[in-house]
Amino acid sequence: MQQVTERTFQITQCVTCDGPLPTLVVGGAGATREWECRNCGATYLASLSPSSPAHLRDSIKLSHYFPERRETATTLREIDLEHELRRHPRRPMMMSIPVVLLDDDLFPVGQEFTVISRNLSASGIAIVHSIPLEGKLAVLIELPVIGHVQLLLDIVRCTQVGDLFEMGGAFFERR
Ligand SMILES: [Zn+2]
Repeated sequence: MQQVTERTFQITQCVTCDGPLPTLVVGGAGATREWECRNCGATYLASLSPSSPAHLRDSIKLSHYFPERRETATTLREIDLEHELRRHPRRPMMMSIPVVLLDDDLFPVGQEFTVISRNLSASGIAIVHSIPLEGKLAVLIELPVIGHVQLLLDIVRCTQVGDLFEMGGAFFERR
């Protein structure tokens, strides 16, 4: 019987433009995500090594916050959200949406989880969750016709409503 060996290797330099990259691990046990070299646009399916030098984080960006939807999800930059909301005013007011917390570099922290969204507008959305959330999030909402849209949300307020917390967030675009 042939034995399958688990092989991992590390990338610290872009194979296309030779620029330095934070340590990306291909084939390891960490969560695999799609990263993009900011210099040349080359993409890597890899996990970011926890021991990677922080000052190199500027050289990559995450292509998809919700990798299982990477084929279908568009980003805010590609659509005019206000135009879409005007075209389809009878959108659902409350829906269950996946979110993931982001750090200061807009890299995901931990696993994605689900919140309830309400009051979607072109500039932001309110979300309801069992614990208070703060900072920045990536959210995936579903619009009529367009389908899933990946948006970045900055939490600007948080109010307790009974046993739940309602957070107001403003959409923003990644540099
Ligand atoms: Zn590159």
